[in-house]
Amino acid sequence: MTGHDLNVVGAAALAMVRDRGGPRTGALQDEMDVITDGSVAIRDGRITAAGPTSAVLAAWGDPAVAQLDATGKTVLPGLVECHSHPIFGGERHDEYAERLGGASLAEVAARGGGIWSSVVSSRNATDHDLTARLQAAYQRIVAGGVTTLEVKSGYGLTVEEELRELRLLEGSRRLTPLELVITFLGAHVVPRDIGAGDGGAEAGDAYTDLIAAEMLPAVAEQGIAQFHDVTVEDGLFTPAQAQRLIRAGRDKGLPPRVHADAWKPSQGWATAAGERAGSAEHLTYTPDDEIRDVGSTETVAVVLPVAELIYMTDRRANARLFIDNDVPVAVATDYCSSIHATSLLQTMALAAPWFRLTPAEVIVGATLNAAYSLGLQDRCGSLETGKRGDLIVLDCPHPNELFLAPGAPLLDAVVIGGRPIHR
Ligand SMILES: [Zn+2]
Repeated sequence: MTGHDLNVVGAAALAMVRDRGGPRTGALQDEMDVITDGSVAIRDGRITAAGPTSAVLAAWGDPAVAQLDATGKTVLPGLVECHSHPIFGGERHDEYAERLGGASLAEVAARGGGIWSSVVSSRNATDHDLTARLQAAYQRIVAGGVTTLEVKSGYGLTVEEELRELRLLEGSRRLTPLELVITFLGAHVVPRDIGAGDGGAEAGDAYTDLIAAEMLPAVAEQGIAQFHDVTVEDGLFTPAQAQRLIRAGRDKGLPPRVHADAWKPSQGWATAAGERAGSAEHLTYTPDDEIRDVGSTETVAVVLPVAELIYMTDRRANARLFIDNDVPVAVATDYCSSIHATSLLQTMALAAPWFRLTPAEVIVGATLNAAYSLGLQDRCGSLETGKRGDLIVLDCPHPNELFLAPGAPLLDAVVIGGRPIHR
């Protein structure tokens, strides 16, 4: 994106979330670098200055440049959503209604629900239908303040279907101003039709073999995926299977992300950190001892409050303990076939009380730390010179207000590459 010039002027609060050379951990995650009366200058789609209004306008004030008046408002870096599964077919609202009515996960699965139903629906959906749904989701996701979005495949689970999902995700770039980061998630679950054993360890081994021997080479050859996500979960993929896949992906040039401990303690966090994955996501059931044993790491712990809410887990990820152990924490929606949370802003408002995090910790988690988890810290995640001109304007005088107003329509503008997208 080029050619977009914009001055965003006079914000009551400008949260810069400065990059200090690494993802924010410990006490540093609790600082969002708020400037009172701040402005941002964007030229040719990139930030050329951000800081006190007087300094920014002295250097970049220009009556010929478009101006966005932020008087009385809050400006944040464009939000970075680092965990979503937007490509799927079918509907799963019935099974959530059943679960709310008291049905167990096993009962829902026995009636044909669960992720497997989405795999079947996705395989049967046309390219056109999958793409239309992507486009609708992107519009809602932008309307939740997001400017950079990670998108995973993972409802295909055959070589052909995974390549198709990645191809459709690549094609969807032209449908949205969002910067998309595309992740291959072959190891989402073990497909029921893998044709080995009864769905137990034998099936897991057979599917792991298929991913390593056929999917990863084909995905690398296709050249679309930027990351490789692997699940570590009791009953799905063991730490040893995940380790093998992570290393096989890395050999093909695909850096790892990990779905870890969403349903049970499964050594997912230790496996992800041990393999220096960019992120480990969910972490609902990661034991406190495992967090302490792993200690400080640059693997970003991505916590997903809406997933815990909708899955009705009896535990929450111990985000506080991760922060206290100098682990960078990020916050994401987990938008997927069973969680239709598209607003990262509303997810953030929930994340603070859900995990007992401060507003600053959550804002850092949805901007700079999320950018680090995607290796995009040079392009987004903070309001600093040289980064893409991505920011959001909230109709409130301080970012803390967001957390007092869950569901309120505070989002005033989304700017991507200097271009106002949503107003
Ligand atoms: Zn997920």
